[in-house]
Amino acid sequence: MTNIFSVRIDKVQRTLAVESMRTKSCLIHSGWQVANEYQMHLHDHFKLCPTCGGRDLKMPCEKSLVCSDCDFTYYHNTGAAVAGIIVQDSKVLLTVRAREPFKGMFDLPGGFIDYREDAEVALKREIREELNIEISQMQFLLTAPNLYHYKNVTYHILDLIYICKPASLSNICPQDDVEDYQFVDPRQFDLKKMAFVSTRIGMERYLADLRG
Ligand SMILES: [Zn+2]
Repeated sequence: MTNIFSVRIDKVQRTLAVESMRTKSCLIHSGWQVANEYQMHLHDHFKLCPTCGGRDLKMPCEKSLVCSDCDFTYYHNTGAAVAGIIVQDSKVLLTVRAREPFKGMFDLPGGFIDYREDAEVALKREIREELNIEISQMQFLLTAPNLYHYKNVTYHILDLIYICKPASLSNICPQDDVEDYQFVDPRQFDLKKMAFVSTRIGMERYLADLRG
């Protein structure tokens, strides 16, 4: 069995340039482009200032909205989420999404980071909520941008992806927003079945590190 926690930093750095180009290409040609069809424009959703009711709303940049009357300013900033590549006997645990967006597609367990929560605590909490298992070890892999479209709002998200080792799988049970789970051979799995471009990028990096 490959020791997933022995990935050398220099190997990661060597692949970084190639992965960076692949990431950009992936973002342009797959999920990013699809999500852009739903791209939220702040003007489409905010017709009136929520503070004074004024109609003169300006967009100084793509993520901000400013009221000319009362100076109310809203930033639609990037959110943060975590995802775990859970490895057991050279197989990777993938979840099947129970809810939109991308209901029925494969995903990594994880979710949004709560207020005042650090990433590692969030990942352990999300995996516990979704699969009823505890994580004994985790190692940071990479970050990848994502678009999450939910009920007519497009959120720009940065995913923090970790390689994880479960303490035990004896009580595993899909729940919350997970319909089912599968252990797959990452070398054989078609990554186009992944719901999000960010988790696809995480799996690509994991595979690249395995191949050396
Ligand atoms: Zn206003």
